[in-house]
Amino acid sequence: MREMEFPRKIIIGHGILDDIVSLCDDLNFLTNGMIISGDHTFKPAGKILEDHLVDAGYHIATHLTGNATVANVDKAIECAKENNTKFILAVGGGSKIDLGKLVAKELRIPFVSIPTSAAHDGIASDRASLKADMGPKSINAATPIAVIADTAIISKAPFRTLASGCADVISNLTAIKDWEYAHKLRNESFSSSAYSLSLHSAMTIMDNANLIKPDVEESTWIAMRPIIISGISMSVAGSSRPTSGSEHMFSHALDRMGISPAMHGEQCGVGSIIMMYLHGGDWQSIKTALRRIGAPTDAKGLGISDEDIIEALTTAHEIRKDRFTILGDNGLTRESARKAATITGVIGKE
Ligand SMILES: [Zn+2]
Repeated sequence: MREMEFPRKIIIGHGILDDIVSLCDDLNFLTNGMIISGDHTFKPAGKILEDHLVDAGYHIATHLTGNATVANVDKAIECAKENNTKFILAVGGGSKIDLGKLVAKELRIPFVSIPTSAAHDGIASDRASLKADMGPKSINAATPIAVIADTAIISKAPFRTLASGCADVISNLTAIKDWEYAHKLRNESFSSSAYSLSLHSAMTIMDNANLIKPDVEESTWIAMRPIIISGISMSVAGSSRPTSGSEHMFSHALDRMGISPAMHGEQCGVGSIIMMYLHGGDWQSIKTALRRIGAPTDAKGLGISDEDIIEALTTAHEIRKDRFTILGDNGLTRESARKAATITGVIGKE
């Protein structure tokens, strides 16, 4: 048996948060709902939803919270139970949507993903990143029943978040190479349709890299669809395989070291340059596209040292032993890591 779960509605548009009541009515939501949001995202987005829904007779509990930690998930579940919550609107950047997915999974109630930024491709997926002491852990959670991406709201988020989301999707190019590699060498199960969706979303960003610019709402329009489709490719595959390979392991290795000030997608983008070099593929195009978008392409851009890059490259294979990639079972030696990072220009710059 294979099971695939997808969002029922995906709506992208300018000012569409104003249509929240008709969306909730269409989805046959019961009266009691909960908005999960944060201090910064409630005012520009959550409040709009709350006002419309309360006016329409919905009973809305608003739960403002922080990162997706076990403690915060428990608190949100408690709040939902107290209010007899039947649906969740998760409003914010990655962590609020992750919290929404986790609470919805636990309580078996529907949730709507309402991103206020586009920093990564988890907006429409069933994967949640739970913050733990050892760094973030990717776990299976609920698929959103709907995704509402209001470009007017998302384009007001710092441009860096959009560039990071685009870099996360570009990094699919090495994730799918790793997947093919594991399929050929280890007979790992493979889905051509998930592969194609992942490739398509990455190429859409690559081809439009020139058009993704700060302070232009059009950029959000161009980026949102591939970011969402990238998430859908995970639902088709039934795992994060099509969007997460060695470049994500490199990013998680940096997270584990606890030294990187960079965003998830930024780290994955840089990782993808090096991993594409290891695959013998066209790493130069990845680098060019990232540079055009304004995402980092080297250690300096990530705000870390050359030695940190080497450390992450040589330890990345330890992150997920079950995920076979170009890094193999034993990872890179320091010499080969240094060589790959130097040739691709990720290290060695002033
Ligand atoms: Zn990612």
